[in-house]
Amino acid sequence: MAAADAALLGQGHEAITAIVTLASSCPAGGDPRWDATLAELGVEGLAADARARHLREGPGQRCGALLLELRWALDAAVAPLCKHMDEPWQLTNAVDQAVRDYVGAVRPVVTTASIFANALAGAASSPAAMVGSADASAECCRCCGAPRQDRSDLSCRYCGQTS
Ligand SMILES: [Zn+2]
Repeated sequence: MAAADAALLGQGHEAITAIVTLASSCPAGGDPRWDATLAELGVEGLAADARARHLREGPGQRCGALLLELRWALDAAVAPLCKHMDEPWQLTNAVDQAVRDYVGAVRPVVTTASIFANALAGAASSPAAMVGSADASAECCRCCGAPRQDRSDLSCRYCGQTS
């Protein structure tokens, strides 16, 4: 690895850590500090109604800025560094990993009662049960676990994971 790459990679990791730390310290959906960080990075956050919808219908988070906005912020932070790297995938992989870790960190605390409730609700209302075909069951996002509504979606609507 080129020396320049190592320096940029280090800077990228620092930026990722700083952004994730701030995002995790926000109440669910973000706060004015998060909005200021998005603005600094040149990222336009979701509108208030879209934020509320993500919190309600997304994979679930008990705290922290929204997954999708976190990914946008991280992408924006590493993009200028990636441009100068021979192997930019190292930083884009780090962003993917940071978002995955964040999903786990902000996930609602699961109680035994909620596990049973979800199991019962899931048995009756899972897409496969409703249409009676395993084929039709929604594919779930490998990053945040949210169902992909449409297989042709290029990225997850909740966390932005591609592939
Ligand atoms: Zn996702």
